[in-house]
Amino acid sequence: MRNNASGATSTHVDSRRAPPSAWNLANGIVFYHLVALLALLPWVFSWTGVLLAVLGLYVFGVLGINIGYHRLLTHKGFASPKWLERTLVILGVCCLQGSPIRWVAIHRRHHEHADRLHDPHSPLVNFFWGHVGWVMTRIEGPGLLALYDRYSKDLTRDKFYVWIDRGWWLKIVSISYAVFWGIFVRTVIHWHLTWAINSVSHLWGYRNYETPDNSRNNLILGVLANGEGWHNNHHADPRSARHGHKFWELDVAWLTIRLLMVMGLATNVATPVIAARIDARSD
Ligand SMILES: [Zn+2]
Ligand SMILES: [Zn+2]
Repeated sequence: MRNNASGATSTHVDSRRAPPSAWNLANGIVFYHLVALLALLPWVFSWTGVLLAVLGLYVFGVLGINIGYHRLLTHKGFASPKWLERTLVILGVCCLQGSPIRWVAIHRRHHEHADRLHDPHSPLVNFFWGHVGWVMTRIEGPGLLALYDRYSKDLTRDKFYVWIDRGWWLKIVSISYAVFWGIFVRTVIHWHLTWAINSVSHLWGYRNYETPDNSRNNLILGVLANGEGWHNNHHADPRSARHGHKFWELDVAWLTIRLLMVMGLATNVATPVIAARIDARSD
């Protein structure tokens, strides 16, 4: 572990690294949207591009964010060999949703405070805030360290994740896999899919479980976001690696994890054990 000038901190995270400012983030997001919109121009449009975007949504979105960042790192929904975990996380880094340590910390905080005061992105504040406004908030210095310390301690102990968190060298990866559709269009679509889980799935949809928050199973997002949209199920049973609980609740990420199970690459897989959890929460 590399020590900084002030000595090693308990979390080994370099607090001096300046995070991007809110304006830079907002400009970056707007820039990506504008470039992505160019895809609609007839002379830029290509079916190969569409195919690349869909493929990219699966490879980076499902494998990287849904399975890597979310079900594996954040909720420990299953166990897998380190090389696989890190490969999935690198794919997740290419989605430009922040470092894994940060993503995990914010998401665990969301689960702890869902739709209450300290939820980092409740749409009950307003839709814009729950969807993308919160993305532009600055968390830095002692605040960031405290967040990591409280929610991501398991990851800040791992050099690899601290390295990603510090260096951001993987931004280069996301530039080098190039091809216009594969980057801009796929990134923007996936941003909105991820953000919509936080906003739309806490407002519209049906509920299988009476969770204390406002989470919903949203039919459209359940399918489009490859299982992440069965968000009421997920709040009822966060650790479960399977988000679709009814047989018709299609969950592509879960089907992928099942494939990993068959290949012996995912073990200790958590499946729904909801009734017990709801009983525990209702008091
Ligand atoms: Zn939620
Ligand atoms: Zn979650």
